[in-house]
Amino acid sequence: MPHEAGTVSYQESREVAEASRETDWTKPSFGKELFLGRLRLDLIDPWPQPDPIRAAKGDEFVKKLNAYVRSEVDGERIEREDRIPDEVFHGLARLGAFGMKIDENYGGLGLTNLDYARSLMLVGSVNPAIGALLSAHQSIGVPQPLKLFGTAEQKRRYLPRLAAGEVSAFLLTEPDVGSDPARLGTIAEPVEGGYRLNGVKLWATNGTVATLLVVMARVPKSEGRRGGITAFVVEGDSPGITIERRNGFMGLKGLENSVTRFHDVFVPADQMIGGEGRGLKIALTTLNTGRLSLPAMCVGAGKWCLNVARQWSAERVQWGRPVGDHEAIAQKLAFMAATTYGMETMLNLCCMLADDDRNDIRIEAALVKLYASEMGWKIADELVQIRGGRGYETAESLAARGERAVSTEQILRDMRINRIFEGSTEIMHLLIAREAVDAHLSVAGDIVDPKADLGRKAKAGARATAFYAKWLPGLAVGKGQNPNAFTAYGPLAHHLRFVERASRKLARSTFYGMSRWQARMEDREVFLGRIVDIGAELFAMAAVCVRANAERDARPEGMELADLFCRQAKVRAEALFTALWDNTDAVDAKAAKRILDGRYAWLEEGVVHPQGDEPWVATWQPGPSTGEDVRRRVPPPS
Ligand SMILES: Cc1cc2nc3c(=O)[nH]c(=O)nc-3n(C[C@H](O)[C@H](O)[C@H](O)COP(=O)(O)OP(=O)(O)OC[C@H]3O[C@@H](n4cnc5c(N)ncnc54)[C@H](O)[C@@H]3O)c2cc1C
Repeated sequence: MPHEAGTVSYQESREVAEASRETDWTKPSFGKELFLGRLRLDLIDPWPQPDPIRAAKGDEFVKKLNAYVRSEVDGERIEREDRIPDEVFHGLARLGAFGMKIDENYGGLGLTNLDYARSLMLVGSVNPAIGALLSAHQSIGVPQPLKLFGTAEQKRRYLPRLAAGEVSAFLLTEPDVGSDPARLGTIAEPVEGGYRLNGVKLWATNGTVATLLVVMARVPKSEGRRGGITAFVVEGDSPGITIERRNGFMGLKGLENSVTRFHDVFVPADQMIGGEGRGLKIALTTLNTGRLSLPAMCVGAGKWCLNVARQWSAERVQWGRPVGDHEAIAQKLAFMAATTYGMETMLNLCCMLADDDRNDIRIEAALVKLYASEMGWKIADELVQIRGGRGYETAESLAARGERAVSTEQILRDMRINRIFEGSTEIMHLLIAREAVDAHLSVAGDIVDPKADLGRKAKAGARATAFYAKWLPGLAVGKGQNPNAFTAYGPLAHHLRFVERASRKLARSTFYGMSRWQARMEDREVFLGRIVDIGAELFAMAAVCVRANAERDARPEGMELADLFCRQAKVRAEALFTALWDNTDAVDAKAAKRILDGRYAWLEEGVVHPQGDEPWVATWQPGPSTGEDVRRRVPPPS
């Protein structure tokens, strides 16, 4: 049955999101501690070191990949023709790039997260659509959920195919399901020997070329069956699957992104991953490390932009000086260099922590996705500004006039999506904030839960008193007030003292918010967003100080970049602290209601508005496809 919009309440959506959370914290988490006001530098210092044997293997692969993409892949052609050529699929498969994250026993390369990120950064710098292809394939596509939740038989059956170059895709989104999976309308009806899938999936990256899919579908609840959103591995060629469309976007022109229809598609029971009702938990757990691929591409973009900005700003002379000498442009260069260093540091740290598996990195990985997608976008935007009119001109047009074909406008278009997919910025704010307030909710949750009875409230009250009696006084004083603290970090010590003080202030602010708004805290999305953004700045500051200090002898300039980054981050964090209590949030929320009611609609007069009375969100009807199958079959190499 097609899903009817409006039938899922806010409460139900929230419950689905809550049920898919991982609630256990078995390993230490730097991020969680930071939000609780405790700077646990011991969790990231000593700076992690990659295992030398695995690192050597990674280096060898990255070297080969580098040689291949430089000599054989034409990024401009992908942009011009809106597709990645067949031979690039073959070349990447030959190198093993589709199996970077797959264990060696299944024919993959078994690379570390760090080397995987380096590889994505490299291919993404030639054309980001290649990065998206490889990352959708192995960060969210079939390999990662199977690695974490698949049976031995499923791994044996599918992973060698994927490592050899078959492409996979991840299908969660539907026309009516974006950020809110509770509305999922694709049904997996239990039948003899398996399930029958019916539904329509939107925007599946790799969907037009994939031969193996992870599909999220709802198994209806029934007698003795828990049902719920469930993950399946589905053969892309199964009867009843139609690729109805290849979608086109602002950027990522080479993306093979589909509308995929399932009509009575039979999926054998042994193709379910992890059990009925476990689909969203699987998706979220997969994303813990899966989320690192997107920031890898943002870091790559930062490096690319910095390189163009540096050369151009030194060369282009206006008003008697190179533009980089004018203060307004100089500031942008400083922002680009410092932020690229900051993003790279956060990413490398998260990858290495994931590789040595000592820490829980779910908060840190989410922070780096949020931070790198926002900052990467700003960097690309600043590059367009620095390049002036040439920043707005296409590479093709520049080349036709005899100038260097630098695709600045393309990088801006390609980068924009990062703030939307794999968790939009707004959703990332909520997701991270949920973890940041978890300590409060787990001790005091029932006090603020309107559904809790008096007995539960009293018990929660006692628990909360015990927790806060111990925790709150600890937030008043700390190492950051001692001018001799963190001296091992030399000139960066004062930044760590700031981070220590600010993390306690952040925890106190979260506590004030909790006491002030109680159960309504979750509606204070902008407040929570600022709490999370401060946490991201503090995490980044701590990371750059530890890294620069660890690399001090090998790369002394890192200390300068760390200092520069921390100075800029501190200004941003302080502005966010001020805005926590001095803002227009309440009036904005009231104004938005009036805007939605049409009170100011006259302001929109005087222009031609988009025409048409088609729905904003298309509904779909179950049944066989009426359109042509636009699947792209990448032929085997000749
Ligand atoms: C190029 C591209 C590739 C994609 N690849 C895949 C893929 O491979 N597989 C897949 O399953 N999906 C994919 N997607 C879908 C993508 O993950 C979604 O676009 C994303 O989850 C956001 O959903 P939505 O677009 O429906 O936005 P909506 O959920 O409609 O949101 C609209 C706006 O409201 C905000 N919003 C929503 N809920 C809240 C809230 N509670 N509080 C505050 N703000 C809120 C959002 O942040 C957004 O700004 C892709 C999309 C694109 C464009």
